[in-house]
Amino acid sequence: MDSAERDQLFDRATELFDGLNARDVAAIALTWVDNSGITRVKSVPLRRFAHAAAWGVGASPVFDVFLFDDWIITGRHAGGPVGDLRLHPDLDRLTVLAGQPGWAWAPADRHEQDGTPYAMDQRGAAKRAVARLAELGFAAKAGFEIEWVVGRPGTDDFVPACQGPAYGHTRQVELSDYCADLLRALDQQDIAVLQLHPEYAAGQFELSTEPEDAVGAADTAVLVKETIRAVSARHGMRASFSPKVVVGGVGNGGHLHVSLWRGETNLFVDMAPEASAFSAGVLAHLPGLCAIGCPSLASYLRLVPSHWAGAYSAWGTENRETGLRMIEGPGANLEVKCFDLTANPYLVIAGVLGAGMAGLAESLTLPDPVTVDPVTLEGVPRLPTTLVDAVEEFEKDAVLVETFGAELAATIADVRRGEIERYKDASPQGIANVTRWRH
Ligand code: GLU
Ligand code: MG
Repeated sequence: MDSAERDQLFDRATELFDGLNARDVAAIALTWVDNSGITRVKSVPLRRFAHAAAWGVGASPVFDVFLFDDWIITGRHAGGPVGDLRLHPDLDRLTVLAGQPGWAWAPADRHEQDGTPYAMDQRGAAKRAVARLAELGFAAKAGFEIEWVVGRPGTDDFVPACQGPAYGHTRQVELSDYCADLLRALDQQDIAVLQLHPEYAAGQFELSTEPEDAVGAADTAVLVKETIRAVSARHGMRASFSPKVVVGGVGNGGHLHVSLWRGETNLFVDMAPEASAFSAGVLAHLPGLCAIGCPSLASYLRLVPSHWAGAYSAWGTENRETGLRMIEGPGANLEVKCFDLTANPYLVIAGVLGAGMAGLAESLTLPDPVTVDPVTLEGVPRLPTTLVDAVEEFEKDAVLVETFGAELAATIADVRRGEIERYKDASPQGIANVTRWRH
């Protein structure tokens, strides 16, 4: 980043001042998502925004080795008190937060102090994958499904904040103002919501958004989660996005929908060979991708058969028990069903696109689909059943390691192992308890 670029950013942010001020914005939250899936933040008052746009805001690289519970490990390539990075707000995604009056938000890119992109920046990894795909002549569209539960405040246990049945309209009547306020806030933030519904588990809801460019989809996932959190708090409730809120129950998923495009053509409609190759690449690398998309100990409490979590290393058309669910029709896409919301959405985008591109490069073809519940068949392989297995699969997956770069890949593995070591004696209920309100 040279001084002309910095001047340009300063001027652009300065031009935004009056509009933000008129909307009563006091401060701008600059967020990034760490390797454990936690959205971290530094904020600047409105008057400091132009400076932040040009020069960034300081943040230690130690965040790369934070665990989800704020424990800090020493990684092979990160950790310790030395060094500093700069958080640069993406002005194109600046959003006034309807769910948090007085605040605006922008996703941040992490740069070195001299302005060069930081090699282990997760959003940077997603951008690099998108750029590589563009070089091959393709674009991806993506969207994350967000599932969450609402609980009563004042307790770390989960006490559902509504009683109505699964998919029952009762829940939306009980929480009528909440649901309307949430949809209104998202609309005011220019989020194109496709659908909201009460989900299966107690107090559970789900919301999906329109497909968009892949980095934008990861930004949207962050913004939707933080909006749900904020609106829930304003309605006196707590939101949990944990993969397993209560042991034995149905979890929260964070399914990724992705489609591959050449120009205006969605290659998943009528399954062009490139869409099949891309999907076959994702399938081939799905065990290693679990360390990215199912990155927590709690992920493996969720990733079990017969819970619609997609626990099998297989695909099927409209099959909700395979890791990959193929969706046909005009909006055809590949749904990665096994992922959950402890994942960093930027890492998810980078990993899935990297795997898909490997499938394209090798012109892979999909194996036969699984057309029934895989639990009824012999020999359909499971995805990793523990975080330990997932990290091993990840580390031996040369495509994924190359996608992230050796340093970021090693740091991701270090963070996973840190979590494994710290909770090696914890029970499933203990893991659910410590994870419940973190992400
Ligand atoms: N809650 C399920 C999960 O853990 C998903 C249910 C659905 O198919 O939407 O992923
Ligand atoms: Mg669902």
